[in-house]
Amino acid sequence: MTEQKVALVTGGTRGIGRAITLGLADIGVHVAAGYFSNEDSAKSTIEAASAMSGSVSVHRVNVGEPDECLQYAQDVIEQFGRVDYLVNNAGINIDRTVRRMSLDDWHQVMRINISGCFYMVKGVIEHMIERKSGRIVNISSIIGETGNVGQANYATAKSGLHGLTKSLALELAHKGITVNCVAPGFISTDMLSSVPPDIIEQIVERIPVGRLGNPEEVAFAVINLLDDRSAYITGAVIPVNGGLDM
Ligand code: NDP
Repeated sequence: MTEQKVALVTGGTRGIGRAITLGLADIGVHVAAGYFSNEDSAKSTIEAASAMSGSVSVHRVNVGEPDECLQYAQDVIEQFGRVDYLVNNAGINIDRTVRRMSLDDWHQVMRINISGCFYMVKGVIEHMIERKSGRIVNISSIIGETGNVGQANYATAKSGLHGLTKSLALELAHKGITVNCVAPGFISTDMLSSVPPDIIEQIVERIPVGRLGNPEEVAFAVINLLDDRSAYITGAVIPVNGGLDM
């Protein structure tokens, strides 16, 4: 078994996930980053990490498919001998008011944003218990706390992650495994690119810090929770939102 720490980061080659992957590679971790559709980002993430003390491998996985999640976890455990960190970051939004939301819009967001997290946990939990060590961080959202017009599916999934996180934290606390959530506010990534500029302006006006967040600021919170020194933080939801929703 390698001495190097090993992380699984879903959606780990774009946006917030990429910042987490590169932040971990920069401190010497091997990151087995999941990606779904964007091969160019996957390749460029490996390249971006090439001069770092850690390393990145990429693994195609649809977190909405339980078998793919279990296989991804098993492959990494076999290949690298260990998984120290799981970051459930992959997420999608399909925004419509409830009146216009189809059953498929609802189920798709639940499948990726919450069931995907459950499937990934199932993939690593026995391994982490066996090693009496592990860190799990789930990326939720401010919207899981506040709700939002046109985001009932997304808000429900993200607040569901808070319940999953706290239940898992209770189940795993005495086994050396911590489970936490990081709940970003509005972060400058592709996910916000479909929001019209005038709406972004209105959002920024409500943010006490006066700007959108950047992916590295979310990654910093995640990486701190993964650190050995965070052993006494579990079941927490850490907001990274520039003071919005205090
Ligand atoms: P992006 O849209 O930039 O990236 C989404 C990531 O999820 C990509 O890496 C994508 O992979 C991956 N992904 C999408 N569908 C699947 C799937 N079926 N299986 C596996 N991976 C998948 O989003 P962000 O970086 O902004 O968001 C990352 C997380 O942060 C999400 O959970 C999001 O809900 C949350 N968040 C984001 C906020 C923001 O303002 N940006 C605010 C609050 C929370 P690929 O590129 O290969 O398709």
